[in-house]
Amino acid sequence: MRGGMTSQISNETVSANRAAAPRFSLPDAAGHFGAFGGVFAPETLMTPLAELADAYQAVRDDSVFQSEFAALLREYAGRPTLLYRAEGLARHLGGAKIYLKREDMLHTGAHKINNALGQCLLAKRMGKRRVIAETGAGQHGTATAAACAKFGLECVIYMGETDMERQALNVYRMRLMGAEVRAVKAGQKTLKEAVNEAFRDWVANSRTTHYVLGTAYGAHPFPMMVRDFQSVISKESRAQMLAAEGRLPDHVVACVGGGSNAIGAFFEYLDDPQVALTGVEAGGRGIAPGAHAARFAGGSPGVLQGCMTYILQDAEGQIEGTHSVSAGLDYAAVGPEHAYYWKRGRISFAHASDAAALDAFKLLCRTEGILPALESSHALAHAVALAPKMAKEEILLVNLSGRGDKDVWHAARAMGENLAL
Ligand SMILES: *Cc1c(COP(=O)(O)O)cnc(C)c1O
Repeated sequence: MRGGMTSQISNETVSANRAAAPRFSLPDAAGHFGAFGGVFAPETLMTPLAELADAYQAVRDDSVFQSEFAALLREYAGRPTLLYRAEGLARHLGGAKIYLKREDMLHTGAHKINNALGQCLLAKRMGKRRVIAETGAGQHGTATAAACAKFGLECVIYMGETDMERQALNVYRMRLMGAEVRAVKAGQKTLKEAVNEAFRDWVANSRTTHYVLGTAYGAHPFPMMVRDFQSVISKESRAQMLAAEGRLPDHVVACVGGGSNAIGAFFEYLDDPQVALTGVEAGGRGIAPGAHAARFAGGSPGVLQGCMTYILQDAEGQIEGTHSVSAGLDYAAVGPEHAYYWKRGRISFAHASDAAALDAFKLLCRTEGILPALESSHALAHAVALAPKMAKEEILLVNLSGRGDKDVWHAARAMGENLAL
């Protein structure tokens, strides 16, 4: 069934796989991945969510929509991305052959553009002329602003005031692309409050407005829809690996914030039990309340911002503070599909500390001349520990979710350098 795959992904291949693969039966119609997921939303959001679920279901198997999406990924985002054999890194570490899936080469610098393009195309289909999104560090906001400029959609980005001060350059990038960036002044003035504000806007304006959620998280249909849009990563890597090596990788590793690049990188391997899958969370300064964002190491089941999943909370159910050197992994909850596959033992989770991620960041720069995002550096840090324990015929595939240009200043400071900028 998988024979003759090339890096060109045809619609026939997509729907043939979908029919055959049980992983596509998840979530159920109500958005459940086993005990996780679902729709935990106020009454006022039920109608827009149901309308979105219907609209997405209609385009999911629509060959016109899917070929428009494929063309955008190819011609605007720059897909397929390279599957790159990292010989310098592998030589340094010893052990496994290492490949990198180069999502860092995409337009706007990370995998987030895959999802932003898919959802903006859907917004257009639904007749919406206005798009809103939340952003933490600004990566998802930038990808959404770019997609809106491309489609001629009005764009409003909600961003915590604290994040806006920390990421002034990204705020200006979004404005250059025509987006309005609205400061959120509630609570901690960061990502969680920005999500709340975006939902509030959506309730008031859902007739004209689509909410582009930035990760495989939230109420149904968002986790499923974002996963579908990001699964192009593993569709490509699977075909590219078969072309390069004639077999599948032994182990795939990806970093996990909300979980979109990881589920995208894992999805096509879920039914291949010989392929080990590991998600890497932010271990921060260590697994103690407030010092990390490793939901599977320090969390418990609960509901936050739309779904049942693993979250960092105290004994009373109050959401704990989080910390990570990388803004994109710094969130108290994880996508519900990851919780499901973790419980079933299909996806393992590890965490990498700030220090290990910074070491991996430097190591990839030196051994390959590739500057990874600090988020992606967490996946690399796990690969650094794993590769030497693997045999030299074994293949380790790391999803390089984004590029690190955005992180240079922050990384320099974290490593004790004082750049005079
Ligand atoms: C946002 C981001 C992440 C984390 O988000 P996921 O939804 O977990 O993928 C990881 N890497 C990069 C480069 C990002 O920008």
